[in-house]
Amino acid sequence: MNYLERFSLAGKRAIVTGGARGIGLEICRAIGQAGAAIVLVDLDETAARSAASSLVSEGLAVSHRFLDVTRSADVTALADDLNKESPIDILVNNAGVGPRAEALETLDEVWVKTMSVNSDAPFWCSRAFGRHMTERGSGNIVNIGSMCGLIVTQPQNNTSYIASKGALHMMTKSLACAWAKFNVRVNAVAPGYIATDMLDRFKTDNAIWHDRWIQQTPLGRMGTPEEIASAVLYLASDASSYCTGTILAADGGYTSL
Ligand code: NDP
Repeated sequence: MNYLERFSLAGKRAIVTGGARGIGLEICRAIGQAGAAIVLVDLDETAARSAASSLVSEGLAVSHRFLDVTRSADVTALADDLNKESPIDILVNNAGVGPRAEALETLDEVWVKTMSVNSDAPFWCSRAFGRHMTERGSGNIVNIGSMCGLIVTQPQNNTSYIASKGALHMMTKSLACAWAKFNVRVNAVAPGYIATDMLDRFKTDNAIWHDRWIQQTPLGRMGTPEEIASAVLYLASDASSYCTGTILAADGGYTSL
């Protein structure tokens, strides 16, 4: 057996939500380099176009579409439309928001938006694309959860974010069990602190927190988007063929403490 071939995604077609920047962009690059054709979707169409064209200039097969993942009907329409062209084999639910608010200061709209983007939308997408995958008898879904779905982070304790990622992890396990009989695997990556726009602003806004995160991480540094993209590639490929319902922590050891 050639183990490296098990990571190949040649001939596969994937959709990545929130793919215009940060971790999502790097996931597109990783699974594109493994041979998959990518549909990159994002809320910001200009950023999506520019990200897709830069990946195309690297030799990858990438197209882009506008999609607000919180709009269930639009998600279903896109899934039906794309699958009419050719099957989508891999769905990566990456789009997410990371608000900063302790429980007593959390406004209704912040709670609703966080749950809407981080846990409702991955369900809308999984249901819409999963319908085609289960009918076809093959497919692979990777959700981007968080170590916040496993533990309560300190010093910040963002209840809405923590609850949304905990729900996403349990949705992952539930769908994994429901769809195993259709040969559709569903897994999640649970990143620790990763250097993207979502967290980089803390370097200046709240340097004390930023320093504490690094001190609390056994590997002693933030992770990179590439380190999350590698974990996604593993779960999206046959290299992980016996994994379903797995929540793969990629957190520098944070949740081991
Ligand atoms: P970024 O904020 O850098 O990127 C998120 C992307 O999602 C953006 O392109 C954003 O678009 C898009 N997006 C947001 N809302 C929607 C929507 N309604 N429809 C479609 N796209 C949307 O975040 P990261 O790259 O850091 O995070 C990616 C994922 O990883 C998220 O799920 C996050 O929770 C998770 N994660 C991140 C960690 C980190 O330390 N960075 C740690 C743990 C988990 P726009 O730019 O237009 O807002």
